[in-house]
Amino acid sequence: MKSIKELYRIGTGPSSSHTMGPRKAAETFLTRYPDAASFKVTLYGSLAATGQGHMTDVAIIDTLQPTAPVEIVWQPKVFLPFHPNAMTFAAFNANHKLLGNWTVYSIGGGALAENNETSTIESPEVYDMHLMTEILGWCEQTGRSYWEYVKQCEEEDIWDYLAEVWSTMKEAIHRGLEAEGVLPGPLNLRRKASTYYIRATGFKQSLRSRGLVFAYALAVSEENASGGKIVTAPTCGSCGVMPAVLYHLQQSREFSDMRILRALATAGLVGNIVKHNASISGAEVGCQGEVGVACAMASAAANQLFGGSPAQIEYAAEMGLEHHLGMTCDPVCGLVQIPCIERNAYAAARALDANLYSAFTDGMHRVSFDKVVQVMKQTGHDLPSLYKETSEGGLAKDYQQM
Ligand code: SF4
Repeated sequence: MKSIKELYRIGTGPSSSHTMGPRKAAETFLTRYPDAASFKVTLYGSLAATGQGHMTDVAIIDTLQPTAPVEIVWQPKVFLPFHPNAMTFAAFNANHKLLGNWTVYSIGGGALAENNETSTIESPEVYDMHLMTEILGWCEQTGRSYWEYVKQCEEEDIWDYLAEVWSTMKEAIHRGLEAEGVLPGPLNLRRKASTYYIRATGFKQSLRSRGLVFAYALAVSEENASGGKIVTAPTCGSCGVMPAVLYHLQQSREFSDMRILRALATAGLVGNIVKHNASISGAEVGCQGEVGVACAMASAAANQLFGGSPAQIEYAAEMGLEHHLGMTCDPVCGLVQIPCIERNAYAAARALDANLYSAFTDGMHRVSFDKVVQVMKQTGHDLPSLYKETSEGGLAKDYQQM
């Protein structure tokens, strides 16, 4: 598995696979053909189907246009075999002669992949174990925790990086709670975070607590929908869950920053296991791979903060994902707004419930986290493509008919 720095990416929304990944691909292509006279970029499958709502074209044009004109070609009905989020970049000279082209895939969470053995964008593997069961066994043998395994595998600067992640998450919450008005796009959706926050503070203990978690998740997801700076956890669409849970626990229980960073490390490991063994791409496996995985990460983080054993942490993560199995990705108008924003708030609340449920047990349970990851992958592949970020089915279709 690769570094958790590649899971927690700091950048601007609204979509890690449809905005961050294509922007990065365009930057890479530009370094190869800085003298091109024109570019043509063909977007395939899900990237073309929901690319306009996700601002895929804007991310690419913003990057290439300062150098040369860009033509964008949309091919929503064409799915390349390797991954549904494919794009082909082509560079031309002044005589319209092809200088070179590059087909690359945005595989989720802002990561890119090439479908060949000599990939030019490979990054090093830093973890020697890829399954939760193996890592749990290591924890039990050594008496150590998941975050200590992360510390052992990552470079020394991992804590500085996680500190930056944590401060970016908190800044997104603060900005999102202050902001008012309407989100970009044709839905004219009003921001709700500040209202939730004010209303929540008027309630007593348990309602207040739940309302605040909702407000924090809404704040970050609304920032993402507005193209604000966020952290993929594990993706842009699901970026509200982790900050909401961690911020709420820090505010209400006064956990130190160092303990929050360790919780981020463990959650990063959980997300990494799914990314390595299945997928965190809504276009590949539906929203179970985005918000479902975010919930699993936050469940594990919360459980660790409350002193859960490695087995209890694994159980919390397992429940966070298991109870999102089959969840479709059907964003209305291709925007990361409906159902995405509310879904983050619900998943944050569910993560706290999964933590609590696991805390009542000794960590023993039937279905392992690794098993659920495999089931999630298979379920995702069994889902028809209209439920995988194409905006052709489910809520997206219903809305079009209204
Ligand atoms: S429905 Fe889920 S997977 Fe699809 S764009 Fe929204 S958050 Fe991402």
